[in-house]
Amino acid sequence: HWRQPEIKRTKTVCTYCGVGCSFEMWTRDREILKVQPVAEAPANGISTCVKGKFAWDFVNSKERLTMPLIRENGKFREASWDEALDKVAQKLLEIRNIHGPESIGFIGSSKGSNEEAYLTQKIARLIIGTNSVDNSSRYCQNPATEGLFRTVGYGGDAGSISDLEQAELIVIVGSNTAENHPVIAAKIKAARKHHGHKLLVVDPRKHEMAERADLYLRPTPGSDLVWASALSRYMFDHQLADDAFLAQQVNGVEEYRRSLAPFTLDYAAEMTGIPQADLVAAAEMIGRAKSVCILWAMGITQHSHGADTSTALSNLLLVTGNYGRPGTGGYPMRGHNNVQGASDFGCLANQYPGYEKVTDPQVRAKWAKAWGVAPEALSDQVGEDNFKMVQAAHQGTLRAMYITGEETAFADADAANVHDGFSKLDFMVVQDIFFSRTAQFADVVLPGCPSVEKEGTYVNTERRIQRFYEVMPPLGDSRPDWWIFTELAKRMGHDWGYTHPSQIMDEVASIAGIFAGVNYARLEGWASLQWPVAADGTDTPLLYTQGFHTDDGKATLYPLKWQEPAEQADGDYPYTLNNGRLLEMFQGNNQTGRVAGIRWLVPHWFVEISPELAARLGIASGHWLKITSRRDALEVPALVTDRVQGNNLFLPIHQGKDGVNKLTGEHHDPDVNTPAYKEVAVQLEVL
Ligand code: SF4
Repeated sequence: HWRQPEIKRTKTVCTYCGVGCSFEMWTRDREILKVQPVAEAPANGISTCVKGKFAWDFVNSKERLTMPLIRENGKFREASWDEALDKVAQKLLEIRNIHGPESIGFIGSSKGSNEEAYLTQKIARLIIGTNSVDNSSRYCQNPATEGLFRTVGYGGDAGSISDLEQAELIVIVGSNTAENHPVIAAKIKAARKHHGHKLLVVDPRKHEMAERADLYLRPTPGSDLVWASALSRYMFDHQLADDAFLAQQVNGVEEYRRSLAPFTLDYAAEMTGIPQADLVAAAEMIGRAKSVCILWAMGITQHSHGADTSTALSNLLLVTGNYGRPGTGGYPMRGHNNVQGASDFGCLANQYPGYEKVTDPQVRAKWAKAWGVAPEALSDQVGEDNFKMVQAAHQGTLRAMYITGEETAFADADAANVHDGFSKLDFMVVQDIFFSRTAQFADVVLPGCPSVEKEGTYVNTERRIQRFYEVMPPLGDSRPDWWIFTELAKRMGHDWGYTHPSQIMDEVASIAGIFAGVNYARLEGWASLQWPVAADGTDTPLLYTQGFHTDDGKATLYPLKWQEPAEQADGDYPYTLNNGRLLEMFQGNNQTGRVAGIRWLVPHWFVEISPELAARLGIASGHWLKITSRRDALEVPALVTDRVQGNNLFLPIHQGKDGVNKLTGEHHDPDVNTPAYKEVAVQLEVL
């Protein structure tokens, strides 16, 4: 009586980058038959990249965690949910009662849903009483967010992906868009081909979009603030600044203009290595285009002054009047699929969901009332971020961590220092779908579910909130994070009673203003909403059409000084190690590394070496090299390519037992505590 199971088609959202492609997943029981994009998908339409289309085998991997694990006498043993959750609840309350609320830190997941991010910070703030909650935006987008907060008021992208398609000129800075946000890159290529839009690319690495650009500038690593500021000065000096826009909509113009005095073309050419004629050509392109979008990513933010450089790019857009109109604005690209949502929904040490400040008494009173506690029950202190949590673990003031869905032990800079800090903690919980490198430091490991085994919402890079649906039930005894948090809270005296994530979204919408009109009914199927969303459901595809998100509705030009990178190549360490993603892979490779097709496509790790450096050192592709930084060393084969130039190297971040973060250091952007991943000076040895 066996019958062929029916083929089921379920809408889901890709979990591999901030483009937020949605599509139908076709399944028969747990077998994933295919991924089919549909025209109704708001961010991507009928496009996907290789990851969204093919990288799902990990869901049925035999290595999935299917039972809670408890460490006992140095070894992990399986446990029931009751036992594991009782232990976590009891240990966290005990540590809080003995050492105080600031002794516990939470890292929320940028791959989990918005609802799960919300519950992470709700446990931290309401139950433990700490604002020490963060997410992986600390590694990537926080500097960009800070630059936008300083200048225009919201930290999100100014408009939609469709604005990038409409812009007369697109400027891509420090973003390998074709590999990291492939569907957006495809739309930009189409806009160039069909509408003649122009493309300016600025990057030390000559990636695909650089090769396609109308003008490509190759700056010295870490010098982007200089050329961006020199271009702003050029606009004022050559009557290309938008004087009417500046007069009506921008504060601080004269002070900013004075601050540009050092940024002459001569100075910029000397500091960046970009020929003066190219700087002028770039300035003329930007100054004369009717609409300009600037898109940037980790090549800008992962530096010791990434917030300042992000600010410089937003300044340049303001000087040229490129905000508040279709086809204009700043577009920092979000890496993880839900790094935007994890931040929007409160996994930040200084803000409640909706970017409401923890230090504002009125904000605290509002959240306290909604959560049914006295305002004094909520901390008025900015908590520790990821960087400071590791420091506090070393100092002994942080005694426990709860890490959800993040491969912190692999992804955080200066890995040995992080591992050392983790091993000093009294108690660590890791919640993940695999026994990750981070789980090796845990006392309790809780098996979460991937997106296809639960419901929820994500926010993509254009502030677009989309629903995803359960494609198949959770594997084994794994459970969605929102269920785990709800059960844990119950054991800590807070019975929230959530039985479906829509109830969590309803709660957020009733408190956080920017989500006022968000609910699951309005997000049904392919529908989506871009925050801020008014109570009547009106959303905001393009920001700043009615003024900026500031008290007086005006933007601010923010004066800046250039500061050298914290670590630079020198006589002892003469090469600069850039690093980043590959098209086919995702972060620590825990998911994509379990996909046979992806392993076949990228079978080897490699380091890119320029032809000139390879000739000087006698290196050919395939030669094994030892790369040594001030922290540690690793061995990897060479790939000789003109994608890199001179003494610059490039290493993908996904591979190797310990990865690139054996080599990266503790140096970071002091404004936002983002590690300066891109500032690594190294030696090379041919093996
Ligand atoms: Fe779309 Fe990004 Fe997923 Fe590729 S990785 S399918 S571009 S969301």
